Amino acid sequence: MTGTATTERIFQGIGVSPGVAHGKVLVYRTAEEVIPEYDVTPEQVAQEVVRFEKALIRTREQLHELQGRIASGVGSEAPSSIMEVHLSITEDPALIEPVMRRLATEQKNVEHILHDVVHKYVNALQSLPDEYLRERVADVQDVGHRILRNLLGREHTGLANVPPGTIVIAHDLSPSDTSSINRQNVLGFATDVGSHTSHTAIVARSLNLPAIVGLRDLSQRVRDGQNALLDGYSGTLVIEPTQQTLFVYGQITQKRQSVEDRLASLRDLPAETLDGHRIVLAGNIELPTDVPSLHAAGAEGIGLFRTEFLYLNRKDYPSEDEQYEKYLAVARAVKPHPVVIRTLDIGGDKFRGDDAPSESNPFLGFRAIRFCLANVALFTAQLRAIVRASAEGNVRLMYPMISGLSEVIQANDRLASVKDDLRREGIPFDEAMKIGAMIEIPSAALTAEMIAKEVDFFSIGSNDLIQYTMAVDRVNEKVANLYDPTHPAILRLIRSVVEAAHNNGIHVAVCGEMAGQPLYVPLLVGMGVDELSVGASSLPRVKEVIRRLRLTEAQELAATTLHVTHGHEVQAMLNALLERIDPDLAH
Ligand code: PEP
Ligand code: MG
Repeated sequence: MTGTATTERIFQGIGVSPGVAHGKVLVYRTAEEVIPEYDVTPEQVAQEVVRFEKALIRTREQLHELQGRIASGVGSEAPSSIMEVHLSITEDPALIEPVMRRLATEQKNVEHILHDVVHKYVNALQSLPDEYLRERVADVQDVGHRILRNLLGREHTGLANVPPGTIVIAHDLSPSDTSSINRQNVLGFATDVGSHTSHTAIVARSLNLPAIVGLRDLSQRVRDGQNALLDGYSGTLVIEPTQQTLFVYGQITQKRQSVEDRLASLRDLPAETLDGHRIVLAGNIELPTDVPSLHAAGAEGIGLFRTEFLYLNRKDYPSEDEQYEKYLAVARAVKPHPVVIRTLDIGGDKFRGDDAPSESNPFLGFRAIRFCLANVALFTAQLRAIVRASAEGNVRLMYPMISGLSEVIQANDRLASVKDDLRREGIPFDEAMKIGAMIEIPSAALTAEMIAKEVDFFSIGSNDLIQYTMAVDRVNEKVANLYDPTHPAILRLIRSVVEAAHNNGIHVAVCGEMAGQPLYVPLLVGMGVDELSVGASSLPRVKEVIRRLRLTEAQELAATTLHVTHGHEVQAMLNALLERIDPDLAH
């Protein structure tokens, strides 16, 4: 047969970052996903054994290095004891002996055999009744991956070196992958897993790159080099689009572009309702390099700087001085507006490549403020960097994942001693720097009255608040349909947090993705939220909604929704309102 007739194929996922991209597919796989398999001669078996032994030695060296870093820089027992477990796995006969035996009998390359042995070992552990042993599954997988990487000589190169015009398709992209992305060459990305609030989606919006998540097994069904048309508005991915499809899309894109142009003209106008109520409209960033796109979108400062992204894609932790330089540069870039620097929120679906979580429930585990309070040296270094940068005058500090008053008190105690040290050292800082707590755990929302007495502002993290209230994993596409920002429980929690803030005379923001969705803006404004902080690509839409809204109608709507029993009825009311104030934004 001659010719390469191609058939158009359409995949439907969840559109999480607006825009349309047309380019060539690159299927991105992590080192562990591509394990070579080949035969070796009987003479080469000895070489394979040596390769395996060398990889084990290198792995142990790396684990010792990591352990040393933790002991000196972080000072926590927990991660250091994990390293002990990992070291013991490198000597575990249940792992080593089958590899040695099978190398001799099967005459295959060691990567292939090791991969299979780890797989079987993990299956065996998973089927055990003993919970303690079952918990070792993630550790065995971690160590297995590390040995494999050493065998393959592969460093995790991320997405820094991809050809121009690339559409990245992957099973999943970790925050380390997305933060190394080459913005010039990558036009958009699409993943099998994820939801609107997974960090892949959040980063896509910050990078202003069209993206689709939740495409199930897409990464298994496409090949490198295929043509792809990615529509981040509707969540449609077209592989090998026909001329007809490209033509139709060209027209849709033109129409969307004219809406974008109209919204761009709002850049320097205030986020003010028709009846003169001002909302602070700030932006979210993951890295200092995100500041220019927020500036271009007209943000009034930064309502959330997710500093954990400074800790990804590197082997060491950033030093106090390095962090100070970065925070200072951001503070200067947004002046006279404020920047809210959130302390490290590592864990959940944000982890460093080599420190992938060895917990069975990372979202309920050793994350954010819990990790920081246990790692005094690391937390102190970050607090010192932020407090030093506050000398600029527009820096605010915020703690993530607060579950109740005692964590705020502990964190504030640490902060007070950092300030004492700086005073003693004669290092200037802003004595009036405002301190905030994220309200994103139901226990904090329900005790907001108490927490409000210890801080200067609240920022509602709706992504986690919804996840933890509804028990819906925010990154799992299988339950994405259950994730409902308009559930009566969520509306009541938000309302009571706003009341607690205002009763105590403090400011309340929403910095979760709910704030960036035009549909929910009237609801949040009507509930009395003072500030919305959103990704760069969402900002013009949010401003448009605020400017076409009356505070009085938003308040009436919010009051009514509190008596509605089903989320979908609230959604219908919000849809009707958005359709009336700006139909272009209603889908
Ligand atoms: C949130 O949970 O809503 C939030 C803003 O924080 P993150 O998405 O970084 O967890
Ligand atoms: Mg959060």
